[in-house]
Amino acid sequence: MEHIFFPPLSRIAVCGGTHGNEMSGVYLVREWQKQKVDESGALSITTVLSNPPAVNVCRRYTQTDLNRCFTNALLSSPITDTTPYEMRRAQELNAQLGPKGSEKAMDLLIDIHNTTANMGLCLIFYSSDLMMLHIYKYIQSKMPSVPVRAIIMDIPLSEAFSLESVGKHGFAIEVGPQPNGVLRADIFNLVKKSLDLAFEWIQEFNSGCTFKAGEVEAFTFVKSVDYPRDPATGEITAAIHPQLQDADFKLLRRGDPIFLSFSGETVKYDGEDNYPYFVNECAYYESKTAFKLAEKTTMTFPSISVKN
Ligand SMILES: [Zn+2]
Repeated sequence: MEHIFFPPLSRIAVCGGTHGNEMSGVYLVREWQKQKVDESGALSITTVLSNPPAVNVCRRYTQTDLNRCFTNALLSSPITDTTPYEMRRAQELNAQLGPKGSEKAMDLLIDIHNTTANMGLCLIFYSSDLMMLHIYKYIQSKMPSVPVRAIIMDIPLSEAFSLESVGKHGFAIEVGPQPNGVLRADIFNLVKKSLDLAFEWIQEFNSGCTFKAGEVEAFTFVKSVDYPRDPATGEITAAIHPQLQDADFKLLRRGDPIFLSFSGETVKYDGEDNYPYFVNECAYYESKTAFKLAEKTTMTFPSISVKN
């Protein structure tokens, strides 16, 4: 693989509260805004509370999920009186931190999320972003006592729907388990530590270090699995099986229990061996997702350094 040069990362955005009830990002951004942490050496760091009305009412969103509003189509759709708040807010954020795909966009955009699932620390990013594999590998190597994983989304940037896609580079930090509306110090500290390490990597990169080629393990989405439902009413008829609960990223094999019905029957898994994640994520009941399944892959990346 040929060596790649990237321009320095000087303008960084750190966003929290994109989902208004995911508290690590809300409080971290507020704290940094209080301390006016916006200069870290030569870095310019912009902190943004992405969805203040949703934060105020401690809900994921007010009208529609902000973190699904950053596709090129939605960012360029006309605003009318009936446009949901979050679609308008997405266009404001795109003007402030982007525009997506342009030279003016932030060099790196980090968006902080929490999950109610037992996922540890996950970095989520798009497959085209080779630099993110380096940052992921760095964070993973410096936090050996914590499960640090990467979930890679393989869709074109124009269809990328989440806030981090507005930056030239970007990733979401997804950390759990933490209930919605709740702040846990252990989870908060994981977020803080991973951000510190990301900044450390950026400083080293900007100062001219060469980062060697290598490979890392990552997960890619295969499909979502819904709860068993009553065909007449659509109501769920089972909960996640205790054996699957909290077992995110543990290989799920055909025949393993996945649901326990309210009448006491076990529903067994009947698919290819895959890795479950977002198991019993609170926010996904409305999108009819009990858990997602991923494949484990090995991603190789080239050596990189800064282009001055
Ligand atoms: Zn979120």
